[in-house]
Amino acid sequence: MLTSISGRSVIVTGGSKGIGKGIARVFANQGAKVLVVGRTLSDAESCAKEIGNGASAFSADVSDWKQSQAMAAAAVERHGGLDILCANAGIFPQTTIEKMEPAEWDLVMNTNLKGNFLSVKACLPALKKSDQGRVVLTSSITGPVTGFPGWSHYGASKSGQLGFLRTACIELAKYNITMNAVMPGNIGTEGLDELGADYIATMAASIPLKKIGVVEDIGNAALFLASKEANYITGQTIIVDGGQILPESLEALE
Ligand code: NAP
Repeated sequence: MLTSISGRSVIVTGGSKGIGKGIARVFANQGAKVLVVGRTLSDAESCAKEIGNGASAFSADVSDWKQSQAMAAAAVERHGGLDILCANAGIFPQTTIEKMEPAEWDLVMNTNLKGNFLSVKACLPALKKSDQGRVVLTSSITGPVTGFPGWSHYGASKSGQLGFLRTACIELAKYNITMNAVMPGNIGTEGLDELGADYIATMAASIPLKKIGVVEDIGNAALFLASKEANYITGQTIIVDGGQILPESLEALE
């Protein structure tokens, strides 16, 4: 049993759907005060209403500095401070290098990688005042460990997050803030659904546990990293993928 994080102030970026919604729900169920952030206010509002426990919605684009600052200010204003940033917002358009426009590369980098930097920078003044400051990034196995056609930009952004993590965690350590990353495999979300039933069935077959993960699998890993019990863990990653990265060949799965 982890020490309760009840009453802690939490921001979940990309909290209105998918993995972020799962993270928001897990924290809200533990009694944390959650700010659900996404660009589409109506989605963030319905998510906050659905998960309840005092969660509220805020509209911000994590690739925009001013909006990132407004997001941090909203958490402080509504909750009286900020203890935990779950920097989860991300996009994964699938386009091969031959077909990709340079603007799509920039969009993915600005959202997934620069967005992490802006969220951490914007939240840092408030996190410094917490006695249990935490940053949990949502990276991926795609990029740091595996590859998949069409995701060169995405994979680069997800690897970049871990490079950012390894220096940022040192800078944040002097404020007693820890920073870690969860690396999901394939998790059932609205975003993943858009890739189609065939993609999902093929992926599930290639995973030792023979199933796609659920969003709470990532929420629970984030909760552990945010807990008091994880207070000596920083700069680290946890892969949550049902064993997906392990098989050396199809034979290994028979
Ligand atoms: P999703 O279902 O498409 O949800 C994405 C969320 O991010 C939505 O709430 C979306 O809301 C928000 N968002 C997107 N761009 C944003 C921006 N610029 N500013 C603020 N919010 C933004 O995606 P998901 O599958 O849950 O993925 C979430 C994270 O997990 C991503 O970082 C992704 O790389 C990572 N991940 C996912 C999987 C998977 O299998 N699903 C695997 C590995 C890693 P709005 O559109 O309203 O802004």
